[in-house]
Amino acid sequence: MWILYALVLHILLLGSIFVIYFRSPVIEGLEPQERLKGQPPADRLVLIVTDGLRAQSFFANNCNQVPHLREIFIKEGIVGISRTRVPTESRPGHIALIAGLYEDPSAVTRGWKENPIEFDTVFNRSDHTYAWGAHDVLHIFEKLADSGRPMHFDAYNHDLDFSGQQKTYKQDEWVFDRVRLLLKRKQEELREAKRVVFFLHLLGLDTAGHVHKPGTPLFLENLKFTEHGIWKIYKQFEETFPDKRTAYLLTSDHGMTDSGSHGAGAQYETDTPFMLWGAGVASSVYAGIFFEANDEGLQLPIRELEQAQLTPLMSALIGLPPPMNNFGRLPQGFLGTDAKYEAMAAHTNALQLLAQYVRLQKLHMRGLFAPILNRFDKLTPELIAEYVGYIKTSFTLSRFHESTANSALVMQLALEGIDYYQGYYCNVMLLSTTATFLGWMFYLYRLLTQDAEPKNIDSGMNGHASKIIVGLWVAAVMLLGFVVVQRVPFAVSFYLLLPLPVWMLALRQAPNRNDDLNAPAYTQPTVANPKQVSIAQLLLLIGCAELLVFTFFDRRMISLCFIAFACYSNWETFKRKRRLYLWLMLLVVLACFPLVPPSVGYQNCYLLLGGILLLLIRQFLSKKRENSKWHTRWCSTVILINTAVCVNLHNNQIAVPLPLKIISWLYLVYAFVSIHLNKEASLELRLEHICYNLGTLYTLMCTSYESLFVQLLAIELTTALAEQRAQVEPLHHQQKSLQSSLRIAFTIILYTFFSLFGSGNIASISSFDPNIARCFLSHFAPFVIMSLVLLKLVLPIVINLSIVYTHSEYARLHERQIFICLLLICDIMGLNFLFLVRNTGSWLEIGSSISHFVIMEVTTLVLMLLAYVSKLLLRLTNCDRALSKLN
Ligand SMILES: [Zn+2]
Ligand SMILES: [Zn+2]
Repeated sequence: MWILYALVLHILLLGSIFVIYFRSPVIEGLEPQERLKGQPPADRLVLIVTDGLRAQSFFANNCNQVPHLREIFIKEGIVGISRTRVPTESRPGHIALIAGLYEDPSAVTRGWKENPIEFDTVFNRSDHTYAWGAHDVLHIFEKLADSGRPMHFDAYNHDLDFSGQQKTYKQDEWVFDRVRLLLKRKQEELREAKRVVFFLHLLGLDTAGHVHKPGTPLFLENLKFTEHGIWKIYKQFEETFPDKRTAYLLTSDHGMTDSGSHGAGAQYETDTPFMLWGAGVASSVYAGIFFEANDEGLQLPIRELEQAQLTPLMSALIGLPPPMNNFGRLPQGFLGTDAKYEAMAAHTNALQLLAQYVRLQKLHMRGLFAPILNRFDKLTPELIAEYVGYIKTSFTLSRFHESTANSALVMQLALEGIDYYQGYYCNVMLLSTTATFLGWMFYLYRLLTQDAEPKNIDSGMNGHASKIIVGLWVAAVMLLGFVVVQRVPFAVSFYLLLPLPVWMLALRQAPNRNDDLNAPAYTQPTVANPKQVSIAQLLLLIGCAELLVFTFFDRRMISLCFIAFACYSNWETFKRKRRLYLWLMLLVVLACFPLVPPSVGYQNCYLLLGGILLLLIRQFLSKKRENSKWHTRWCSTVILINTAVCVNLHNNQIAVPLPLKIISWLYLVYAFVSIHLNKEASLELRLEHICYNLGTLYTLMCTSYESLFVQLLAIELTTALAEQRAQVEPLHHQQKSLQSSLRIAFTIILYTFFSLFGSGNIASISSFDPNIARCFLSHFAPFVIMSLVLLKLVLPIVINLSIVYTHSEYARLHERQIFICLLLICDIMGLNFLFLVRNTGSWLEIGSSISHFVIMEVTTLVLMLLAYVSKLLLRLTNCDRALSKLN
């Protein structure tokens, strides 16, 4: 039963983070603001998004990479850096840019392509919108085309080719051609139209970044083509509309790391360039920081703003109100208009933000307890009325600068207020989730100590515990009453109430002791001094978990952790000196891998070749060679040669021929089927088979040293466990047993994280490298590649788990205890991460802290699943028995 509880609870806890920290920013029931009065500075806006272009690529080398664009911004306009938030993906990036709202990442779980909730955009407010680009991006905004406004979307099919045959900038060329076609065809009609938006989405650089990596010659080739193309299309627009009433904005949705990925919060990923020029744009703008714009040493100011601030700016340029759900504040001094127009734009922006705030406040005040609960005092209805009156008088007195400053202040307050009401229950929920965690850990701890003394299981409850349970019921009823009367949102209520059933479950299992609530757990083991032993174990448990928590903040810490743990658990086990030295050498080599800079990890043929050779050597030098099936060896050899050929072809920009790809897919099936069909009963021989097949499969998806690393790790684990087994003492004491469980549980967790950290960065699973699929396919199919990435992450864990099961009889017999220890360690770490989640500070910290928590919660679930898979592969004879024992 406890496995089921664990599954359900961990899924719920995983959800808690989204309820606590990610509330949907879209507020419903809003009305759009009025359009700006008077003549707007521009009639049309050209928005060009170079997908995935980071600021560094733009400004590097004194902007020599973008000579044509430099020519423009030296002459006119504003240039700078726009900061995006995490996740740095195309969808949230474009929504922040065009709707001005930072979509909550949980939207990803609610459907990647459909919009979970309707939101307003600049396109919605405009009279006409023309858009060209990739279907994935245009699709987000196409769905919003309501209210009968003419929107024209033209998307190409997104079957990208990354085999190197086709140039990545073909996609951009397609867009430029389509734009030219439209400008020629509808010239007359477009000249008359006002408040028009042209949106050019250029995907080429994103593809080039993923495939060739930023800064490589092929990437720069694409950049050169695209920036020249933008310049030509700019000239074309100026030719078609000679009235000088076109405004231009060039920016990108997110950046990219050196290894060609995005999604996380590194500076390369969040810093994107922006360029604003044309009608209505200030000719120069004050900025504290300057950069060198060309080789002659020309110094230009560089402006910084948040991505969503571009939304009200775009709206103001063509006389539109900001979209209803916008969170951006109009940056001051960017408009090259008179002070009156800027004051008006700022006022409309402030009203639009206030509308959201007022709406939230109203929703909160519906609750019966609202008058006695805390409120946001900095912005009361009286203050809002005062502000509106002040703006009116300052407009009649022509005090536009004061008016703009005042609007900016109110915008800031409105945003704070929105934050306040959206996070109203945040702290309480944090508290209740902690209580849930503690209750669950208490439950696990009881299970563990019951295990140690099975005779003590008794369903009889003592009076003390039942009193507490009655108390919990009373609390539950009262809390339920409160959330109903106060109209607390459903999800929030759920997590507020969750700790109560968990604690009831934990207390229900009370053993028949009459100690107070916290003591009975410690009194279980039959060892001489039970209390101390248990506390020591508890401390050990917490210490182990805390040590691992640190590794999340510095990848290199895991080397230290690994060496310390390996020495602690194996130092006395080695009897033969020669083996000891070999093992130590292996340890040192392994500990070096996480220290290698990540850039080495993304592509290195020689290291990959080393992995392949090691695999071959292991296969043919194995002592049990006679026993292994001939087809296993030959299939592996063939596939390894295939890998080498594919990699070589790919590196030389030659497409991988279809037969080779088919062989790779066939091997993927063969690797698992042949293990399944193998009737071998000896565990070690089965393990050998598993290591060969899965190791070979893993190598097929490697780009650098990963294969080498994972194999060495497997060798090390095998050596250590085999040596330990050779001198296992009979397990009399329960105390000993608990310690062993703890040690094996920690081994499993440590090796899991080590295999993940050592072979790459686990903090950004979403940002994958398509090159790992080069032996399988040459088209960019995100979901297939994603599945392969997951498979690649999971394979080393399965190998390690199989090794543990094979070489440790203890692990096979005490599975339940080990898994409870495992859950306890993971939960202690999870609780740490729950508190380390930040909702202030830079987005880098917030993003990575959240992903840590998610990784932790997922790990527990995945490990349970993978343990089952490895037992299935090993055909453990007591598999069914063990399973029934677990329940
Ligand atoms: Zn993108
Ligand atoms: Zn991308």
